[in-house]
Amino acid sequence: MTMETTLSPGSTIGFLGAGQLARMTAHAAQRLGYKTLCWSGGGDASPTLQVAGEVIQTDFHCKQSLERMLTECDVITVETENIPADLLAAFTGKGILRPRSQAVRIAGDRRLEREFIASAELAQTDFRIARNDQDILQAFHEIGDCVAKTARDGYDGKGQWRIRSEVDVQLCIQQRGDYELVVEKFIPFELELSILVARSASGEIKVYDPAENIHRHHVLDASIVPARVSSEISDNAKEIAKKLVVELDYIGILAVELFITKEGEVLINELAPRPHNSGHHTIDACVTSQFDIHIRAICNLPLTSTTLYHPVVMVNLISDQWSEDVQGLTHPDYASFENAVWHLYEKQWKPGRRKLGHVNFIEENRDQALEKANQFRAILASQTKLLTSSSN
Ligand code: AMP
Repeated sequence: MTMETTLSPGSTIGFLGAGQLARMTAHAAQRLGYKTLCWSGGGDASPTLQVAGEVIQTDFHCKQSLERMLTECDVITVETENIPADLLAAFTGKGILRPRSQAVRIAGDRRLEREFIASAELAQTDFRIARNDQDILQAFHEIGDCVAKTARDGYDGKGQWRIRSEVDVQLCIQQRGDYELVVEKFIPFELELSILVARSASGEIKVYDPAENIHRHHVLDASIVPARVSSEISDNAKEIAKKLVVELDYIGILAVELFITKEGEVLINELAPRPHNSGHHTIDACVTSQFDIHIRAICNLPLTSTTLYHPVVMVNLISDQWSEDVQGLTHPDYASFENAVWHLYEKQWKPGRRKLGHVNFIEENRDQALEKANQFRAILASQTKLLTSSSN
């Protein structure tokens, strides 16, 4: 198969990862008539068990599972960037990995990511690569107030240290283990945006309106679309996204996280070579969802419209505030939210901050959607104590 081959319905799409992103992408694939086979890699497969054609539940080192994926899948895609390099190489060797391994590797390693963004001459925070303890101290002396991040395996704020003093440097050194770090200048941003862009195997590009993201304890809490930014900033974000997919020769959906400074600068924070939590509103508020467009892009179908047809606010259901056992869909507190579309992932509640679902609030205008979403978030927040204390 060449990269430009079009895959017809009936073909089999393989997923590396079997979590909620694979679940929602598998829904989209099935709507278009494709078969799906997920390989969990040993992670929690509960979101896909009832959705995918089949889920292989072995870790990513299992040779037989690799053989099956190579034999049975017409195309392979990823729901995470943390995929062993030899696996990416095996699928690349057969020409069936979309997005390409280069993009997955870059997004899975903050060093490569920063270096790639620099080589594409796009704006980002000032950074240093720190290979040893001395490098961390030197980076702090050179750039001042900063955030140190592990080059690999970090997510949702894990593997990150805010460094404002030499005492913070020592703490980071003690805790970093063997990880090499990227040390970035701290950006006192006005707000955080993310933007989704899709590029098909034959090079067609479609970009979505950016989402404004609100985080809680480093985990995405809500996304507001349209974002509360000027059209210049929105257009700038779209141009950055388009340039990235061209530079990467990218196939599929790419998410780009951005910081917007007080001066209106648009700086790239990070890339995700897959559907993204901040794009879940697209299921109910856009003509084509991020999952549908990803399937279209990797199967080399024409890309349908990314137009937003209603303002929307997406609110995550996170396990420190949400438990179906405690609240449930029939809880009277939720009855007044009529223009709300619920998505639950069939994941087991566990203490901590697991993403268990999300709700899209759709209204005629953004302020109304935000008002409803904030009322809903206040109800969720009132559960925090109950859920966090019941886990102790
Ligand atoms: P990341 O895992 O890189 O997306 O970081 C998680 C969150 O930490 C971001 O969404 C920001 O809220 C915050 N953050 C990360 N890097 C920086 C930075 N250089 N300056 C300010 N805040 C940051």
